[in-house]
Amino acid sequence: NADIPRPVLDVLRRLRELGFAVFLVGGCVRDMVRGVPPKDFDVATSAHPHEVQGGFKKVIPTGIQHGTVTVVIGGTHVEVTTFRSEGDYHDGRRPSTVTFESDITEDLSRRDFTINAMAYDPLSRELVDPFGGQTDLQARLIRCVRDAHERFSEDGLRPMRAVRFAAVLGFTIEPATQAAIPPTLPVFRKVALERVREEFVKLLLTPRAEFGLTLLAYTGLLDVFLPELARAEPEAARQARAAAQAAPAEVEIRLAALLADLVSGSQAKDIGVQLKFPTKVAETVGLLVEHARLEARTEEGDPALRRLLAKLGLGSLESLLAVAHARIQVRAPERLPDFLRLQERLRALAAAKPPLSAKELALTGGDIMATLGVGPSPIVGQATRFLLDSVLDDPTLNQSERLKEMLRTWQAGKGS
Ligand code: ATP
Ligand code: MG
Repeated sequence: NADIPRPVLDVLRRLRELGFAVFLVGGCVRDMVRGVPPKDFDVATSAHPHEVQGGFKKVIPTGIQHGTVTVVIGGTHVEVTTFRSEGDYHDGRRPSTVTFESDITEDLSRRDFTINAMAYDPLSRELVDPFGGQTDLQARLIRCVRDAHERFSEDGLRPMRAVRFAAVLGFTIEPATQAAIPPTLPVFRKVALERVREEFVKLLLTPRAEFGLTLLAYTGLLDVFLPELARAEPEAARQARAAAQAAPAEVEIRLAALLADLVSGSQAKDIGVQLKFPTKVAETVGLLVEHARLEARTEEGDPALRRLLAKLGLGSLESLLAVAHARIQVRAPERLPDFLRLQERLRALAAAKPPLSAKELALTGGDIMATLGVGPSPIVGQATRFLLDSVLDDPTLNQSERLKEMLRTWQAGKGS
């Protein structure tokens, strides 16, 4: 019980005082039984949402129609959900009805996997484990509560969660549970892509991403939301998975490492958009994929590398280096020394903070117009590009007098 925060215990005690059944449920019980500190604590109770609201000073009606409220206590937020069972499912997406229950076992029986279907009462130290969650934790197995085929047909996201938990925990999917995945893929196809993406990201960011991705491919799930990887040649797919796992655990970096040798930058961005990533994330992935093949650039001079920095933006350099490093480690380890030299050069060029865009030029648009003796016109754009191009070649040119002189020469050359 030492792991359980004081406010959570206070919520449990208060509801018990009011005469309700109340337990910790879900991921936190799984983690405590495994002996790892839980991330967050979910409370389940026989009290109805309005009864929970009546029991505490501050309660936010987070998802009251599903029975969830958030108790704010001692500066922490504790989610409290009424025991419930779920009616029929429409489209494998969400239950058509939610019924409140008075019995914890009813509530546990709607949960996805045996290891997620245990409840713990820290006040009496009773563990409620009707589906063999402890045994499966011991055996390191992901097993559906009740019939796998039925449960996957109810909610098409569950197979994806099975693979996600297998990867995160390093567990095996129990054979009957795994066998129920391919026949229920049509239900998985109907699941909203943002729900799929949330599980996918958790899988991608684990130290066992490669294993998780392999399992996604093997079960057929991957083909539904990432056919570009699912349909790649076996060796290309293997390298892509290994590169993803070799990269630091940040979503843009791992996704770019995964896709870099399978699709173009713009395709990678489109994949990000389709998977409902925030636009910024999709764009970053696209940019990283576009420039990921740094092993091809080890012979380039500083001007070319500065142009790369200009396209990339200094803020993304470290991410790009991480993507390239992971890919090269997997695909061409013999080129690592060359890559590491290039990495140092790129870092040194970036550290010198060279002018990389028009707004960093020592002349403003107004200065350029005055020097050329013209008003706003297309020639100003041409002149700006000329100056930026010169300065990317040689940043020491970026002084107003030098640039003015160059502009005059450029103008004279154009006239002749
Ligand atoms: P994590 O540590 O990744 O948050 P978790 O077990 O807390 O793991 P959540 O997705 O937060 O996972 O879900 C909380 C609990 O709700 C689960 O442990 C499970 O009991 C139940 N649950 C969540 N999603 C489903 C689902 N699609 N079908 C059935 N039960 C589910
Ligand atoms: Mg959770």
